[in-house]
Amino acid sequence: MMTALDSPPLGLVLDDIVRRHRPRSEAGSLPANIPHLSSLPFDRFGIAVATVSGDVFSAGDADLPFSIQSISKVFTLAMALSAGDPAALWSRVLREPSGTSFNSLVQLEVEHGIPRNPFINSGALVVTDHLMGRYPDAAGEVLRFLTDQVGHQSGRKGPFIDEVAARSELSNSSRNLALAHFLKDFGNLRRPAEAVVANYVRQCSIMMTCVEMAKAGLFLAQGGRGAFGAVVSRSEAKRIGSVMLTCGMYDAAGEFAYRVGLPGKSGVGGGILAIVPGECCICVWSPRLDSKGNSLAGTAALADLSDRTGWSVF
Ligand code: GLN
Repeated sequence: MMTALDSPPLGLVLDDIVRRHRPRSEAGSLPANIPHLSSLPFDRFGIAVATVSGDVFSAGDADLPFSIQSISKVFTLAMALSAGDPAALWSRVLREPSGTSFNSLVQLEVEHGIPRNPFINSGALVVTDHLMGRYPDAAGEVLRFLTDQVGHQSGRKGPFIDEVAARSELSNSSRNLALAHFLKDFGNLRRPAEAVVANYVRQCSIMMTCVEMAKAGLFLAQGGRGAFGAVVSRSEAKRIGSVMLTCGMYDAAGEFAYRVGLPGKSGVGGGILAIVPGECCICVWSPRLDSKGNSLAGTAALADLSDRTGWSVF
């Protein structure tokens, strides 16, 4: 573990991470189903660390808002678990790695409409449906939750929903609608498939900076305690972290655990949220993706940061 005596200050480490990992040439891909993200320059790279002692360190493009996409699934899960009846939710979605791509249809049919975990798209649709039972505007509620956790900063815009991006994704959502209709057919969706997918793409279209995201995820590093008290219990925080470790990077969860050794959650906007229990929450963002839909430069940067600091759950 990095100590004050034997390591450079974290701010300098992050500056160096940006120098090493900001892409210098174009590699990787962009999500085909979200036209709105296709104009992002390849060399965007930001990183932020929010610590349990209340400090925030950042470097690179850490103050540029990016599309959080599937990172939202961590927050909807936490909110759905605290919205009541977690046992009912866990009877509708499992906690096993899928080993398939995040938007795969095959497994859902073979396994009779019970998604493998809450972080693949089918599982997230079930979580959104559960959350809509309590909050019909679930995406709006997720935005409120994130804004609260980030804390009000006067003169700053804060998290917001990019409604244009949400509409553009919704008009390219055949696959998510197919998943939702499968779930409905198997009796695992209470609300209309279209309403759940519309809510889901709005939650995915929330825009946040790395600094804001690191602050918002901090409750998972401090036993469920967020900016204004408990968000989830200590055991729930542990369990959400466990599901992130085993399922947060889809069919690259094993590789990410091997390289980084931390619970993480990615999004096809290029962001990754990683948790160091008892220490800090990290957010890294760089838009180009590997073949599994995870940020290429972001994953490399987290592996490097974990090696340099000793931050790991192992
Ligand atoms: N909105 C994206 C989708 O449903 C989210 C996927 C992701 O970030 N992995 O395809």
